[in-house]
Amino acid sequence: MQERFCKCGHRLMVQYTLDGFIPWEAVIRDDEGKATPVKVCPCCGSYLSIHFLR
Ligand SMILES: [Zn+2]
Repeated sequence: MQERFCKCGHRLMVQYTLDGFIPWEAVIRDDEGKATPVKVCPCCGSYLSIHFLR
């Protein structure tokens, strides 16, 4: 798990899966421990891409 931040400053956790159908798929999760991956920032609603996070 790696710590990443949305452009709004909201903290997210990124997990790289090695055993899925898509190798090296990055799963972005909210920092509140929810099991469901998120596609948009729960704070500001911005679309999340691993390439755009800082
Ligand atoms: Zn955000």
